[in-house]
Amino acid sequence: MIEIFIPDIVIVNGQIHTLDKQHDPFSEALGITGNRIMLVGLNREVEALAKGRTRVIDAKGRVVLPGFIDAHTHFAHMGIREGQLNLSDTKSKHEALSKIRGFSLNKASGEWVIGSGWDESHWSDSKEYMTKGELDAVAPNNPVLLRRVDGHLDCVNTRALEILNLRKDTIGYEIVDGVATGILKEDAVELAAKILEPSVEQFATGITTATKTAHRLGVTSIQDAQVDGRMLKAYRSLNQAGELNIRASLMPTTEYLDDLVTLGLGAGFGDDRLRLGPLKVFSDGSIGAGTAAISEPYLDNPDELGLLMWENEELENIVFKAHKNDIQLAIHAIGDRAIDLVLDCFEKANLQQKKDLRHRIEHAEMLSVKQITRMKEMKIIASMQPNFVGQWGLAGGMYDHRLGRERTMSMNPFASIVKSDLPLAFGSDCMPFDPLYGIHWAVNAPYPMQRMSPEQAFKAYTIGGAYASLEEDKKGSLEGGKLADLIMLDGDPFNDPSHIKDMSVDMTIFNGIVVHERG
Ligand SMILES: [Zn+2]
Repeated sequence: MIEIFIPDIVIVNGQIHTLDKQHDPFSEALGITGNRIMLVGLNREVEALAKGRTRVIDAKGRVVLPGFIDAHTHFAHMGIREGQLNLSDTKSKHEALSKIRGFSLNKASGEWVIGSGWDESHWSDSKEYMTKGELDAVAPNNPVLLRRVDGHLDCVNTRALEILNLRKDTIGYEIVDGVATGILKEDAVELAAKILEPSVEQFATGITTATKTAHRLGVTSIQDAQVDGRMLKAYRSLNQAGELNIRASLMPTTEYLDDLVTLGLGAGFGDDRLRLGPLKVFSDGSIGAGTAAISEPYLDNPDELGLLMWENEELENIVFKAHKNDIQLAIHAIGDRAIDLVLDCFEKANLQQKKDLRHRIEHAEMLSVKQITRMKEMKIIASMQPNFVGQWGLAGGMYDHRLGRERTMSMNPFASIVKSDLPLAFGSDCMPFDPLYGIHWAVNAPYPMQRMSPEQAFKAYTIGGAYASLEEDKKGSLEGGKLADLIMLDGDPFNDPSHIKDMSVDMTIFNGIVVHERG
């Protein structure tokens, strides 16, 4: 019986940042038995437990933290994308087009060329989307579909339009003077995605590929923010085979609400490896695509206030039905007008009822101090992406271009959120999928309303995500009895916060097993 107290792994000579409530920065060692953390303490306490079969890891003073929990990813899709054309590093439209030409040359005639990650706001030669004609010129023999970095806008060519064969009245199907421009937004984007949907096997392969990336970057749990039946089957098949090496919480989309109600399913169903997350509902679009619902017009398009996806009453009904049936909600709301509407719906659904459902607002980029107070009152979690600050919030970036400096300065107000003690979960939305990059921009954000301490940022990327999936008793901090998901860094973000994005994860331990170790 005494055997079970012999640790399988001990880490000594570390700086263990537990990120629990006490956050004792003087812990230097940690022991793991099976898939659990056995104890956190001093070197001599932990070393005394090590026996012959214990692996002793000398951290040599390095920082040890809980594994990252990415509270908003498109993980299965990210894995699929790794086999597609990646345009995220393109510095000009010219470069993007020549990459598309090169990629399509390796495809058979008629085979789809699918790419993503482009962001015209980063281009030096043009801030315009790619046109149908430009894509026809570089890939005349292949249908081409290129999804913008935010996932809310596609550029397609003529052959793609022929195959997609969208109805002219499809929302977001851009037609000018009776001719399709090749720009797809909103419903048109969704329809195109459905037509090109990968199979269960392709998703399973994608999840496995993405898991390798996750381990390298220190991510041990993900929340997949838009899953359908095929993706769920792929996750289940991997889990059943014992091959799901990441903890996944899955968010079904609005169309499944009635099914969930009928079956009596809600967040938390499942186990510590694979579980059902909240219902994902969209309320508006994105700022990059000019579709986030805002209260004052876009700076670069003075007639535009963005799009709301539902009539007020429709959204109210969704919120009411989900809440009544104990289904957690994760509502995508980016513009201030969308956030107000979502908060009104929550208010009408009478959240004061004694239910700890932990509804969330996803992104909440244009969040006001008043809205933070309302969220706090209704116990709504802010699920946000600090990497957006680095991607779009710097001087001359997309926020400046679309919204102007004044509004840019109060976007993603992490400092105000922390000050009001609103529950905050960080995620990446896969733009890019890299917690250290995101944390860097929360800590080194350009404007005071956005800036937070390294400890606050790491908490949002660990225990904050665990709270958002109702799992804070099991993971998210380094405490005896919790799941052994942890990482070791090659730098010290607490002493050297200006270089967090350049740091690497030296080791990742998932479920008590070393799954990533650098050279
Ligand atoms: Zn998303």
